[in-house]
Amino acid sequence: MTTNFPTATIEGYPRIGANRELKRALEAFWAGRIDEETFRSAAHSLRVDTYNRLQDAGLKEDYSIPADVAYYDQVLETSLTVGTLQADSLQAEFDLARGTKDTPALEMTKWFDTNYHYIVPEIADDQSFTPNPQRVLDIVEEAKQAGHTVRPVLVGPVTLLALAKPALDAKTAPLDHLDALVESYKAILEALAEAGVEWLQLAEPALVADLAVATDTELADAATSAYSALLAVENRPQLYVTTPYGSARKGLKALATAGGKGVDALHVDLSVGTLALTEGYLDTVKNLPVKHLVAGLVDGRNVWAANLRDLREKFGTLSAGTAPGGVSVSTSVSLQHVPHTVDAETHLPVDVATWFSFADEKVAEVVALAAGPLDASEAYAKSDRAVRTRAESARSHNEAVQSRTGALPEGQVQRQPEFAGRQKAQEALDLPKLPTTTIGSFPQTPEIRAARAAHRTGELGDADYQDALRAEVKSVIELQERLGLDVLVHGEPERNDMVQYFAELLDGFVVTENGWVQSYGSRCTRPPIVVGDISRPEAMTVEWAKYAQSLSDKHVKGMLTGPVTILAWSFVRDDVHQSVSADQLGVALADEVRDLEEAGIKIIQIDEPALRELLPLREEDRQEYLDWAVRSFRLVSLEARPETQIHTHLCYSEFGQIIDAVAGLDADVTSIEAARSRMELLADIDDRFHSELGPGIYDIHSPRVPSVAEQAELIRAALKNFPADRLWINPDCGLKTRGYAETEAALRNMVLARDEVAASL
Ligand code: GLN
Ligand code: ZN
Repeated sequence: MTTNFPTATIEGYPRIGANRELKRALEAFWAGRIDEETFRSAAHSLRVDTYNRLQDAGLKEDYSIPADVAYYDQVLETSLTVGTLQADSLQAEFDLARGTKDTPALEMTKWFDTNYHYIVPEIADDQSFTPNPQRVLDIVEEAKQAGHTVRPVLVGPVTLLALAKPALDAKTAPLDHLDALVESYKAILEALAEAGVEWLQLAEPALVADLAVATDTELADAATSAYSALLAVENRPQLYVTTPYGSARKGLKALATAGGKGVDALHVDLSVGTLALTEGYLDTVKNLPVKHLVAGLVDGRNVWAANLRDLREKFGTLSAGTAPGGVSVSTSVSLQHVPHTVDAETHLPVDVATWFSFADEKVAEVVALAAGPLDASEAYAKSDRAVRTRAESARSHNEAVQSRTGALPEGQVQRQPEFAGRQKAQEALDLPKLPTTTIGSFPQTPEIRAARAAHRTGELGDADYQDALRAEVKSVIELQERLGLDVLVHGEPERNDMVQYFAELLDGFVVTENGWVQSYGSRCTRPPIVVGDISRPEAMTVEWAKYAQSLSDKHVKGMLTGPVTILAWSFVRDDVHQSVSADQLGVALADEVRDLEEAGIKIIQIDEPALRELLPLREEDRQEYLDWAVRSFRLVSLEARPETQIHTHLCYSEFGQIIDAVAGLDADVTSIEAARSRMELLADIDDRFHSELGPGIYDIHSPRVPSVAEQAELIRAALKNFPADRLWINPDCGLKTRGYAETEAALRNMVLARDEVAASL
């Protein structure tokens, strides 16, 4: 007998634990405070608690609970299961992800267009894949013992290889190894069938993205080949294949027809965002000849309560479609990208609290959608209220803000005069050749963190906290003077986080207490939420900049986070286009620029490390994004005085692909991460780049102190591709995660390296 696919399910659930149990257990194990057995038992309890919690929330059918288990990362987990990677102990698994004294960690990179990061497997020419089914079997068995029939989840073979990278010196591409990898999946299938498992979930998000490694057609062909082979396995669980994070195109058809009849159940992302980007997607999906359709209607990436009536209507449309086996309801993506529950928030403004839906609440939405308004009338009434009060709220619609952005010119805006004219005006800054600077933050010492914690609990009064911060600023300025840096920073000790800091000071945001979301490994972030129109009630950074500048005759940079980065690291609105919020942030930050200028600040940096992050997965959507993203940055500096030098800073990714947009920011000086790739990026920089440039010359991601010779070599490498009169000398990124000892030594070497090279010019 085969069990039907459940009527309601979710694609995945946060793994970190409502009280960050997994984070704590991981960090305790890594630090040697608990042993392996204690760690495993903590992780086991958390998993069973999660299954119970999901069942209580309404996922009561067999196979409705996804067992998307992973200690560090889901790609790493699948890699270990299908044998893309090998580890013979728990410690060895973590060593792959985190590195050891002697071996570097595997690369980690962004998972689609989310803030989650996965471990990138490497595939060698002679790669073999040894299946390790016991990993999934243990999970299934453990759940069974606890009374749950769960659905194991793995990353699918096409996506696993599309996201892998060739091992050093490999001549083959990872996708060349598909057939061999599929053999390993077959073995897993057989082992699961043997254990009586009737449904397995395989995630294939690679099918929704335009990737550099393969075209849509190649990925679709890969899917056809892989799934035809898997469906042909005689003794196997039914295959539930998913396409989260966007719209699958050729790949959708491939999955619906692989092996003749197609996969046993097919998931599609039908979130508002995906539907907005892909015209007619709902119809395409409706007309798909699939055995069983799983409609990812509840948006798993945002935190808004769903409009259940609207979604139920879409469900009705799909049910009238061609899927012979019926239609189930799910989330658009795994819920790992949202916090656990709104119930953990006790300080949200009462009017907005009802607008939110985190993971647990989304589970209830999925269940209500499948049940319909007659059987779940309370849920629909609640949804109606949320939708109505939000639409009517003055938080969502601030007329003053709207009329201000409404009066802005359309299209691209241009600061005057253009770069050449400004460069002339900025000669008054009187900077030396190859000026040295840093990116903004200085080490956040345990003392500063302790002071912030004590201030939060009220133990440390406002005045004492301010004194502690001012003392830190003073010592950071003195240190920079001692080191002989040319353009100084105040060190950002007052900022817990470069986005949260601004979100707390701007109107239109709320911040959560417990809204933790996994970023990578045990690292979690607490993204602020954009709840409505954004404005700046008062100056946010001026007092700090003014104080720091009062301590030195050198220029101290004002330090702002740009609109795109603020949005990228927040939960955004779903009732307006992102460009609306971006424009609002642009003018709010422009006011801050003006106030900084009035306070005597001559150099202002607007950080946009996340510019590359929000780049849409589909090629055809990218230009539109870059246009509004660049515009919002330009709005910040639009009215800046010609003699004010505007800097920007970018990091965390390869910028080759968007170098036009980076140049288009029209900053006067751009600092950009480059040391780790040894100035590779300079090859992408040609005449399109007019402004001055500070390619990072030392990697701040480790405590290692780069020598004078090493840094001088990178400066010389930069000078091969870039003129000396426009080159700046700086580290890759901010220094807040570093200690003072190494920071001081590295910066001292940086200044010496500059001196050495400058003397030879
Ligand atoms: N100014 C910020 C800092 O130095 C920039 C951080 C970043 O680029 N991520 O911390
Ligand atoms: Zn940076």
